[in-house]
Amino acid sequence: MTKTNFTITVLPGDGIGHEITEICLDLLNQVVSKVGGNQLEFTSFAAGAAHYKETGISLPEEAMQHAFNSDATLLACMGLPSIRYPDGREIAPQLELREKMDLFAGVRPVKTMPGLPLPLTSDAAKNLDFVLIRESTEGLFASRETFKIEGEGESAAAYDTQKISYQGCKRVFDFAFGLAKQRKQQGYQGKVTCVDKANVLGSFYFMRQVFDERAKNHTDITAEHIYVDAAALQLVAKPWQFDVLVTENMFGDILSDLGAGLMGGMGMAPSADIGFEKAVFQPCHGTAPDIIGQGKANPTAMFLSGAMMLDWLGHQHNNVQLIKAANLVNKAVENAYASEELLPYELGGNSGTKAITDKVFAELAKL
Ligand code: ATP
Ligand code: MG
Repeated sequence: MTKTNFTITVLPGDGIGHEITEICLDLLNQVVSKVGGNQLEFTSFAAGAAHYKETGISLPEEAMQHAFNSDATLLACMGLPSIRYPDGREIAPQLELREKMDLFAGVRPVKTMPGLPLPLTSDAAKNLDFVLIRESTEGLFASRETFKIEGEGESAAAYDTQKISYQGCKRVFDFAFGLAKQRKQQGYQGKVTCVDKANVLGSFYFMRQVFDERAKNHTDITAEHIYVDAAALQLVAKPWQFDVLVTENMFGDILSDLGAGLMGGMGMAPSADIGFEKAVFQPCHGTAPDIIGQGKANPTAMFLSGAMMLDWLGHQHNNVQLIKAANLVNKAVENAYASEELLPYELGGNSGTKAITDKVFAELAKL
């Protein structure tokens, strides 16, 4: 029998997280009841920087356990520049969650909405639709444990170490090829581009060799490499050439913000962190301290992340209604922007949380 009851861990986090979570849950409940047949049970937990300030704990054990046992986790954003661990690091328990759940594939779709005045204005750039996969457990970002400072004063030097393992590469490359295959069936190019810096760093040369080895198992998919500096140029010059990009953790962090820029800002960019069985869905953006409490937060990235969650659950459990619900959210958001009535603050307009939410709900009602 197909599973129809889903438990979802919800972590609103900090800052604008509180302004975009509830409305997203409303949207998901509405769309799921519209297609019928399924029930989502949301359980919210306090976690993040404010919770750390109050209790000394950034991610309560209870929340972590719930996330481990639930069908999926929906997270808004965490961290506030003014609240830090004693060693100066920002409070980012979402990284802990990612590592503990072994969510190795950071999926960042770059899909432009019609009707928005985007930074790239050529016709080809108006319909961007590619996916950046960011390895999320290794690379320079995973060096927190081995970080060291040697020497003192003017002779001091700080070291981060980049780890890129065979197993870490294999699983994320296989994920990227699998996604390209799935997309090819939907009419996309069927191409994976590996982004590295193999001309300078040995760890990236190693990564490239593993990529070439994995590519041999997927001869129906075009496999190519690009250096990260060239990728930055090409993502601005001819981004439509890409289908699936796969890269190391920090490069992925940087390039996915570039991708968000192509879409019109951080408030437009959804993401998923996916492992073998578990997944966390969250907008690419942070807590946006500069706009907290002003009604300016764009909920679109959160809505689209919710849609990614429904789609993933649908595919995991062979549940066509959830996939349909995900498509309806995407369509409602697309139609909301296509109306040309919305211009988010990030693009110089004055459509805030309420205007965007109302329009998306109105479009959903018409579908
Ligand atoms: P993190 O370290 O968590 O990635 P960050 O320092 O990169 O955070 P963000 O919080 O992502 O910063 O915000 C970057 C910029 O984008 C800010 O100017 C912020 O106001 C804007 N921004 C982020 N998210 C949104 C949103 N949902 N709606 C509108 N503006 C946003
Ligand atoms: Mg950022």
